[in-house]
Amino acid sequence: MSAPARPRFESPLRTRLFIDGEWCVSETRQRLPVVDPSTEETIVEVEAGGPADVDRAVQAASHAFGAWKRTTGTERATYLRAIARGVEAHGEQLAALQSRNNGKPIAESRIDVGDVVATFDYYAQLAETLDAADEAIAIPSADHRAVIRREPVGVVALIVPWNFPMVTTAWKLAPALAAGCAVVLKPSEFTPLPELELAAIVERAGLPRGVFNVVTGTGSEVGAALTAHPLVAKVSFTGSTAVGEQVMKAAAPSIKGVSLELGGKSPIVVFADADLDLAVDLVMGGAFFNAGQMCSATSRVLVERPLAEALIARLADRVARTVVGDPFASGTQMGPLTNRAQFERVQRFIASGKADGARLVVQGGVPEGPGYFVQPTMFVDVPAASAVWREEIFGPVLCLRSFDTEADAIAAANDTEFGLVATVVTRDAARGERVAGALQAGVVWINAPQLIFPQTSWGGYKKSSLGRELGPFGLASFQEVKQILSAVSAD
Ligand code: NAD
Repeated sequence: MSAPARPRFESPLRTRLFIDGEWCVSETRQRLPVVDPSTEETIVEVEAGGPADVDRAVQAASHAFGAWKRTTGTERATYLRAIARGVEAHGEQLAALQSRNNGKPIAESRIDVGDVVATFDYYAQLAETLDAADEAIAIPSADHRAVIRREPVGVVALIVPWNFPMVTTAWKLAPALAAGCAVVLKPSEFTPLPELELAAIVERAGLPRGVFNVVTGTGSEVGAALTAHPLVAKVSFTGSTAVGEQVMKAAAPSIKGVSLELGGKSPIVVFADADLDLAVDLVMGGAFFNAGQMCSATSRVLVERPLAEALIARLADRVARTVVGDPFASGTQMGPLTNRAQFERVQRFIASGKADGARLVVQGGVPEGPGYFVQPTMFVDVPAASAVWREEIFGPVLCLRSFDTEADAIAAANDTEFGLVATVVTRDAARGERVAGALQAGVVWINAPQLIFPQTSWGGYKKSSLGRELGPFGLASFQEVKQILSAVSAD
């Protein structure tokens, strides 16, 4: 393992809570260590917020909401664009912070920064459309007039995970602000540093105090207090399916709105007519980007039998040659896993795959030295009932099975409790469309890498999601719909 080339940061790291426009300490007087997954050293400690901090933040947001909801969409767009420009201006700092805190290669963090900028710019455009007059609805009554108006839902809690810290935050924060909601954000306890820096950018954009608040801390303290708070109108959550279920339960007594972006176990279906080079690239990207810590990882490869041997040989070579190392070293293709729990979980899955009789083609070992590094692993002939085939691993483990017919491929692809994304690789355009239509997934890529544009949609079927993010769907998830029906006066 090469010696880590640690980045320098432009300014002291932010470690405090951001509540009502002030950087403040927690009422718990507790702090949480933030660990560099490449070295296992503590980078810094941040505030470990608690229920009293959550209450202060929600009260501040609730107070600010009164005036914020009356701003025009055009005014809010100005703030969103100022945030986008701030992220651009501090892009290198944000990317370095994220790679240091999350462990992903710096090139991947730069892609995330670009995504954040594009998301804020896109929702600025959508915010401007909100100043149009109420939408008139044709009704079968000459004596009445009906219009639809969209209003912000109120104070929203945004709870995000550690795998794409800035991106998952931007996908919620930009539409929430565009809609006119006031926000309390809870970053992951593992990766709060990028979001705290983002908060400083939002602060510099001059948002009215209280409109945006950040409370760092654990899920059981801060997350649970947010989901139960009576003044929170909606919780937008991204994380594991197990915690998503808890969030839904906690929101039930106050009938809060809930949007959930949860786990996945997504398929990539490769037909025998596929361009082999393309198929190899798409499988590698779908399984190993961000060390496989992707909700959208297409880690279940289904390959049509005549192509199986060639695809396995090519993949095995690429997987074995993957350069795992320091996120800041040039040439690194995969960094460490983001935290110790994930590092241990992935190794348990690899052991279970072997025990369940999956054929190990590339053994993912653990390199010597500090850091949560795991070499990528590849299994073939994976039993369909095994945990490595059915459960979300969230790490660099590729599993492959062969199929004989299109119908078999579709049945195997859909044989999962998840339904986030899927990829189809074929030269037959009609088949690509047909299979995409039959797959139970919220996003299907045909012969394309996992590109996600903010103008489109994000979210899945079954246990992967409740609701959709991005595009107009993301904005709508932070809006109430009000119908106003008036009698038309006779004169
Ligand atoms: P997690 O569910 O453990 O934590 C997510 C967030 O919820 C964290 O901020 C955590 O502190 C908080 N939390 C924990 N317990 C809570 C509780 N009781 N109440 C409220 N909040 C609580 O998930 P993770 O390990 O951080 O992230 C990995 C998971 O996220 C994977 O399952 C992955 O598939 C999923 N994910 C989904 C998407 C998507 O778009 N569908 C995107 C990224 C990640």
